[in-house]
Amino acid sequence: MRFDSQFLVDKNRFYSNVDKLRKLAPKNEILFMVKANAYGHGLLQMTELALDLGIKEFGVASLSEAMQLRRFIPKHKFEIYVFSDTCLERKEYAGEYKNSHLIPVLSSLEQVKFFLNHEDFKFVPLCLKFNTGMNRIGIGTEEIDEVLSEMRKGDRDEIHHLMSHFACSGLDISLDFSQRQYKAFTSLKEKFRSKHINVKFSSMANSGALEQGFALAETHIRPGLMLYGPTSLIEKYQAKSLWTGEAISQLEAKVLSVRAVKKGDPIGYGATPCFGEGWVAHINLGYGDGLLNSYSGLTLELARGEAKILGRVSMDMTALWFKKSTDPPYKEGEKIKIWEYSNSTILKIAKHLSSIPYEVFCQIGERVPRAITS
Ligand SMILES: *Cc1c(COP(=O)(O)O)cnc(C)c1O
Repeated sequence: MRFDSQFLVDKNRFYSNVDKLRKLAPKNEILFMVKANAYGHGLLQMTELALDLGIKEFGVASLSEAMQLRRFIPKHKFEIYVFSDTCLERKEYAGEYKNSHLIPVLSSLEQVKFFLNHEDFKFVPLCLKFNTGMNRIGIGTEEIDEVLSEMRKGDRDEIHHLMSHFACSGLDISLDFSQRQYKAFTSLKEKFRSKHINVKFSSMANSGALEQGFALAETHIRPGLMLYGPTSLIEKYQAKSLWTGEAISQLEAKVLSVRAVKKGDPIGYGATPCFGEGWVAHINLGYGDGLLNSYSGLTLELARGEAKILGRVSMDMTALWFKKSTDPPYKEGEKIKIWEYSNSTILKIAKHLSSIPYEVFCQIGERVPRAITS
């Protein structure tokens, strides 16, 4: 762990994003996605902030994330959905779902059969996720009759939460693909109801859909990225986004050394020649902290001017080049911010990495402490 760098989350900016989301989807309950350490923002601290705002349902990817959440925040009453890596068949954890009140999101017919045939899950709510065209995980829509017959055998007449997931919500949601997925989802729901199954809750909208005001007829929404700030729409469609949320985080690093350089001076591994006369500052974040080598060449607009990431990123540090000035722009021990509550910086980094903002956040390593500021 480092002392002098941090991934800082601003409480008020998060509150304001939740507020904006509630205005966008006033009738829906929020199932907040906090998988992958809350998109890098810190699982426990993000859950606590959301609980303060009355959010009572959370989504993680794995059973172990869910167990961690239950263990550390035991006093609240809230629901945890385990989305993909449910480990249902692991005997040593079978009791966790019942005892810790966790809900596995069942994503195959095999899982449905297993779940409905085991005593351990008898009182665990039934949550089903269907494949409506993404072809990743999910129960096949053509398997509905088998699901119904398993439910009958297991003496269940309620689906606690029915779900599906959009493959292309980062594109224009009015395109055929998403429309077809949503139609398939709607007819599933109708079919269950026509067979006298009570579908208590349903959800399909993730950030991309929500940003376009789509799939709000369900009881729940499942936002992830948007509540952390950035749009999840690809650049071409960003004008379609109704989202006005702000980045809730900043990534801070410390300057370890500063030296005056001339054009061509060799810097770091591989002896990359300097872009020009000026200054090189080394900061205390490297690829061991998630600043991948592909950050090389990125231009950052820092408080005291423009910096360009120079040469190879080291495991523990990164070189920033500044153009010539009388005094060095930063001194040893001072802080710089890779991004500072700015969606546009995060999107710029993602673009430089040929990546997406999700990945930018998730890459930030465990060595960088997470903290909250108000
Ligand atoms: C991650 C995830 C979400 C949230 O997606 P965002 O694009 O971050 O809003 C919603 N539903 C499921 C099933 C997911 O896996």
